Amino acid sequence: MRILAIGAHPDDLEILCGGTLAKYAAKGDEVTMAIVTDGAAGSTELAVEELRKIRRQEAEKSAKLIGADFTWLGEPDELFFENKESRFKSIELIRKAKPDIIITHAPSDYHPDHQAVSQAILNSSFVATLPNIKSAHEAHELVCPIYYMDTLAGVNFQPSDYVNITEQFEMKQKMLACHASQIEWLQYHDNIDILELIETTAKFRGYQVGVKYAEAFQSAQYWLRVKPERLLP
Ligand SMILES: [Zn+2]
Repeated sequence: MRILAIGAHPDDLEILCGGTLAKYAAKGDEVTMAIVTDGAAGSTELAVEELRKIRRQEAEKSAKLIGADFTWLGEPDELFFENKESRFKSIELIRKAKPDIIITHAPSDYHPDHQAVSQAILNSSFVATLPNIKSAHEAHELVCPIYYMDTLAGVNFQPSDYVNITEQFEMKQKMLACHASQIEWLQYHDNIDILELIETTAKFRGYQVGVKYAEAFQSAQYWLRVKPERLLP
């Protein structure tokens, strides 16, 4: 299977579905980790150009840990909007990766970039199948099933599916630990220990399904996208 995971910011995928991506990769599926914005807004010390470079390096390092392909769209942090240009960027991303399943943000998540990415990917993944909409790559054959990842701390999110990540939890921690600049920023700016947050959330989701650690998902309920078989690992 080919899995395309799309996060708004460089650490979102690790926080919200890192264990699941590691599990796909471990069983030989092809994983692409795509980051939409450059994550360069979160600092009081570093200039945008400098932080952009650091955050990209951190994200690439994390993707490498599980052998995932890495795609960086480089949109400005905090300012992602769906327009014609971003629609085509998203279409290209999907056509190039040819996914069997897309994992992205829930529309109910807290951050405007998360909400915008969620909507943009839902829309683009439909248009990506239309051959008369021309771009560098050929139209994708599949109106792709989409799974929304959990929201931060699970707020306003009712899961439809769970993935047991007990065996992958250590890898999830390692992947997130690559994002050193963001771990420091969240502690300083929001007083959040993000490594503790992912452990608490994974335990909480784990308790819901009787395993040590789990990640939670919601299948996007749209015509042509809902499949009878289980696509999550
Ligand atoms: Zn984010």
